[in-house]
Amino acid sequence: KTDQDFIFRSKLPDISIPNHLPLAEYVFQKFSGDGDGDSTTTCLIDSATGRTFTYANVQITLRRIAAGLHRLGIRHGDTVMLLLPNSPEFALSFLAAVYLGAVSTSANPLFTQTEIAKQAKASAAKMIITKPCYVHKLTNLQQLGAVIVCVDDRNDVVSLADGSVRFTDLTQADEAELPKPEISPDDTVSIPYSSGTTGLPKGVMISHKGLVTSIAQKVDGENPNLNFTRDDVIICFLPMFHTFTHSSLMLSAMRTGAALLILPRFELNLVMKMVQKYKVTVVPMAPPVVLAFVKSPETEKYDLSSVRMMLSGSATLKKELEDAVRLKLPNAIFGQSYGMTEAGTVANSLAFAKHPFKTKSGSCGTVIRNAEMKVVDTITGASLLRNKAGEICIRGHQLMKGYLNDPEATARTIDKDGWLHTGDIGFVDDDDEIFIVDRLKELIKFKGYQVAPAELEALLIFHPYIEDAAVVAMTDEVADEVPVAFVVRSEGSQLTEDDIKNYVNKQVVHYKRIKMVFFVKAIPKSASGKLLRKVLRAKL
Ligand code: AMP
Repeated sequence: KTDQDFIFRSKLPDISIPNHLPLAEYVFQKFSGDGDGDSTTTCLIDSATGRTFTYANVQITLRRIAAGLHRLGIRHGDTVMLLLPNSPEFALSFLAAVYLGAVSTSANPLFTQTEIAKQAKASAAKMIITKPCYVHKLTNLQQLGAVIVCVDDRNDVVSLADGSVRFTDLTQADEAELPKPEISPDDTVSIPYSSGTTGLPKGVMISHKGLVTSIAQKVDGENPNLNFTRDDVIICFLPMFHTFTHSSLMLSAMRTGAALLILPRFELNLVMKMVQKYKVTVVPMAPPVVLAFVKSPETEKYDLSSVRMMLSGSATLKKELEDAVRLKLPNAIFGQSYGMTEAGTVANSLAFAKHPFKTKSGSCGTVIRNAEMKVVDTITGASLLRNKAGEICIRGHQLMKGYLNDPEATARTIDKDGWLHTGDIGFVDDDDEIFIVDRLKELIKFKGYQVAPAELEALLIFHPYIEDAAVVAMTDEVADEVPVAFVVRSEGSQLTEDDIKNYVNKQVVHYKRIKMVFFVKAIPKSASGKLLRKVLRAKL
């Protein structure tokens, strides 16, 4: 066998990817020079207010905001934190920072003050763009010199904190003030946070080249893997701070000239109402949304016939659920997308491409084009042939540059030959389709949201009456997985399950809350002191 027998590639041919271009230039390439995009078509729709932005509006506004950011001292390479719910302002701020050559880092606005501060400090954020209702969580960062920009909201009665700047003031800036930034393809464009295969959440450095490659792998070329078109209306209720939404939806939609209908959050009836009202054609989902959709009797009340494509990503989707959703909307294509913050999209259902490829239920599709994938034995590291499960590894220009200020974690994740080890266990079948069967890494996924056990363990171990602790995933029908803790109390301690839950839960966002506590005499560890999570999971 040669190396090639162990390397899996897309069924679609490779394409030429203009990944020398800065991200913003690439995304709007169709709308510049001799591009065939129509700038008067709708780019963004805000479902909450009915506001719409054409492609021309978006490009002018983002340049003005970029000039406003520049006026406030943001320069090439500086980090801007986006602490915003889904909104046109999220998209515009992201694109403005990117246009300027600055770096964006987005966080869940529901994070606690401590969680926000950790990410803002670690990513050296000079500015935080947020809404007035979240400003009270930023006072410590403001004291440290971060500029706070507030997106006005007429319904928001909380007044602007002292010294913060109104977002609308940014949009008044004169783009003539803006110097043309010299952006290199390897410059970092965004720093999402992910715990990767082990440990605490880390800053994932994504370059312009990486993100351009990842978008092109999905939507560029004659027969794109993700066949978005300029006639599509893509609904966006998945959180925009997550890479799947960022890259696979928002930027991919813009690259194709489609319209993005933005919802501030997921609420099934509202989603269906909006699908009907705006004749939505593409519905990206996560498994809990698929479950809600399949179970809801209300779906009959709405005209959903405009939907031609539904995709699910971010977490495992059971085959039965996939079959059920296909039955419910038989005229729409349904498929999965499998990816990782550090690696972009790894695989996509080929059913999304123009050719009538079939994809089996439960499969994540085939590896993305312009990339290589292999499956390795988790103990020996040897490459495996088809139908043998092992760790999925991926290689290509779409991968992250590395973790911010963490060369060791980077080296543990991307090996010397450029393979990124996903920490996911899967296999490739005879039709080149990928099935994810298990997770080697410790990451817990609650409704697709990341929960890093190490983060919760660090909190637990810090408690004066806790001797040792471990956090693992417990299977849950609705959330897929929930975090539960095994705790060794210090001698004589009367600490109860509720005490522990209260202690942790007030320090973390809702999906990281510990659902159950099991008191044990000792946490199982290997001879070298490595926590044996498998033993604990087996106990559950
Ligand atoms: P994130 O970095 O938050 O996107 O999380 C990436 C992880 O989510 C992957 O490494 C998988 O463990 C899981 N994941 C994402 N998409 C899928 C999928 N379609 N099927 C199974 N697991 C998935």
